[in-house]
Amino acid sequence: MSQLLANLNPEQLQAVTLPPQHALILAGAGSGKTRVLTTRIAWLIQSGQVDPSGILAVTFTNKAAKEMLARLGAMLPISPRGMWVGTFHGLCNRLLRAHHRDAGLPQLFQILDSADQLAAIKRLLKTLNVDDEKFPPRELQHFINGQKEAGNRPHAVEAWDDFTKQRVQLYQEYEAQCQRESVVDFAELLLRTYELLERNEPIRRHYQRRFRHILVDEFQDTNRLQYRWLKLLAADGAEGGAALLCVGDDDQSIYRFRGAEVGNMRDFEREFQVKNVIRLEQNYRSYSNILDAANAIIRFNTHRLGKNLWTDQGAGEPIRIFEAYADSDEARWIVEEIQGLVRDGRSRAEIALLYRSNAQSRVLEHRLFSAGIPYRVYGGLRFFERQEIKHALAYLRLIANPDDDTAFARVVNFPTRGIGARSIEVLQDAARTYNTSLYATVPHLTGKAGTALGQFLRMIEDLRRDTGPLTLPELIDHVLDRSGLRDHYKSEKEGSERLENLDELLNAAANFVAEQQAGAPGADPADPGEHRQLADFLAHASLEAGDHQADQGADAVQLMTVHSSKGLEFDVVFLSGLEEGLFPHENSILEAEGLEEERRLMYVAVTRARERLYLSFAQSRMLHGQTRYNLRSRFLEEIPAGLTKWLSPPSPRAALGGATGGAGGAYFTSSAKPAATQREPRPAFASLPGGLRIGQNVSHAKFGQGVIVAAEGGGSDARVQVNFGSAGMKWLLLAVAKLDPA
Ligand code: ATP
Ligand code: MG
Repeated sequence: MSQLLANLNPEQLQAVTLPPQHALILAGAGSGKTRVLTTRIAWLIQSGQVDPSGILAVTFTNKAAKEMLARLGAMLPISPRGMWVGTFHGLCNRLLRAHHRDAGLPQLFQILDSADQLAAIKRLLKTLNVDDEKFPPRELQHFINGQKEAGNRPHAVEAWDDFTKQRVQLYQEYEAQCQRESVVDFAELLLRTYELLERNEPIRRHYQRRFRHILVDEFQDTNRLQYRWLKLLAADGAEGGAALLCVGDDDQSIYRFRGAEVGNMRDFEREFQVKNVIRLEQNYRSYSNILDAANAIIRFNTHRLGKNLWTDQGAGEPIRIFEAYADSDEARWIVEEIQGLVRDGRSRAEIALLYRSNAQSRVLEHRLFSAGIPYRVYGGLRFFERQEIKHALAYLRLIANPDDDTAFARVVNFPTRGIGARSIEVLQDAARTYNTSLYATVPHLTGKAGTALGQFLRMIEDLRRDTGPLTLPELIDHVLDRSGLRDHYKSEKEGSERLENLDELLNAAANFVAEQQAGAPGADPADPGEHRQLADFLAHASLEAGDHQADQGADAVQLMTVHSSKGLEFDVVFLSGLEEGLFPHENSILEAEGLEEERRLMYVAVTRARERLYLSFAQSRMLHGQTRYNLRSRFLEEIPAGLTKWLSPPSPRAALGGATGGAGGAYFTSSAKPAATQREPRPAFASLPGGLRIGQNVSHAKFGQGVIVAAEGGGSDARVQVNFGSAGMKWLLLAVAKLDPA
């Protein structure tokens, strides 16, 4: 049997080698869903069933996409280039760039991240003189994104009451503003692509023919529009369309607040007539103390599809629980533990610090920084979101697309150049009258405002002209100097860190160019169009914020919210802030559904750990400028006492009642490591009698359509193993069984 398929358990093998039919893998954390998905891609290509260009794989984060491509690169003798692997947003960006004209966009359209979107909405309300108390910008943003995710353009929104009608009106104005400025927000990326595919038959058919296999990880967190997008690409499951493989875990659905729907799983089964529903039950990630704790917690939820997870790895160490007086003590204790772990030879990259809310990272960061421990934050305070970087990017965006009003407004007077709020108001009014972008309106202005703004315009025009022939890092360097940004931060008292960040932007650009040349995921080779590489880089900055931190490549402790830890695994996990109000979060505590979602989050957090799990909480915590005294989280009480060991004696947990997590089980000092994941040797496929080969699709009178998975023996004894999907896996003697190539 091929090496690629060795080390898979029977259910995994069945899933990997399914004939090209729709399938759903429904399985718990750490059971190998992602591994199956990746191995299936390799198997399909290696066995010649599909060309790399026929694969479309959707992952949850950019980090996951990169990891998948790296693994495929190691498994396959050929380059995984040509495959489309990425997040929904990344893949939509790619489609829209390729067909921008048909999608009604300029080639260099810019992407608004959610902070930019909020700024754009605030600007809109101001221009329209709308009371932002009646229409709070954040709520409006939520409304607009919700409508887009439901696939609704303004005219399609059902509005009965005046308030909704007004919101729809604002949605429409917002759309007009985005179109005028050639900018696209995250929800728009999806909707625009969906509409493009839906309305443009040649393009739709092209992709429906091209993609033979569509594979989706973390399917439980897809929203309605994403599901419809997949359906469209898979030709609604029609004959001749792609085979759709979705993998997911209802217990890890953690984006319902953003519109994700577990109902998609049911709809998929029904609408695609999925015959192959595969369950995986063995967990390969964690020792049983960790797994049992996760299972015990999730059992408190009522709405579950239900499944069992087991491991043969043994109990492992007990889960360590620590109670601190204050959050600062908790952080200090965590840092000391980390120092001990590193002294014992652990790699920092195998240690993760997880927390429920972004704001919790600051105190941890502070302690890590003081102790000189390198760390990296995913999400949250991200590199590309820092003020100075946003300013630099705004200049770059104006070069790529001068009609980007958000960028214009951000830097027209930064660094200050005597353009007052009054001049900008005059400009905004004129822009509305002429229905043009701010940039295009400047030449219409006269007087003092016209002069100052005219100078700014000329500077941007000079930058556009002078930077045409430069490489990306040269271009950015030039812009940092000529815009006055560097000088501004040089003269600022605490500007040195900001200057370092600006230099880091040059590094990020250089890395980006190098990756693009090496054919990295999602990066189309730069075509010669002027500033095209710049536009790609800006798209990358919006989409991949957080993946490129200052200390990339260094052995660093990983910090992230529980949400962004989904799908990842680490030898050691610290989960801090286990307090009522924090985790479960106060916004969700009062309603059953919200609480169940918090519990699924807890399940995700616990199941990230391979070997050692630390859970901690503090009696008092500074948050949003207040000291709060919280009870410890109910989730701690849901873990059976026998699985835990308290590092500090547990204090009584008065108000909520419930058993206290009693004294822990046995304490193991051994930290035996599970065997390192092997690099898979490259498979070899022999040819078989009768011109058959491994990976070949065949049909059998009784069992139907199948695919050859393995072969044994020779001559009249030759036997093949065939995966017939819902009819199961069969060994057949070639001399007897009648297999027709399909
Ligand atoms: P999650 O729900 O958290 O995304 P998952 O189901 O996607 O988890 P994977 O990440 O694919 O699980 O696998 C978990 C770990 O188990 C990985 O380290 C993977 O390499 C390993 N693993 C999976 N299957 C096997 C196997 N048959 N033999 C050995 N290791 C395995
Ligand atoms: Mg996974």
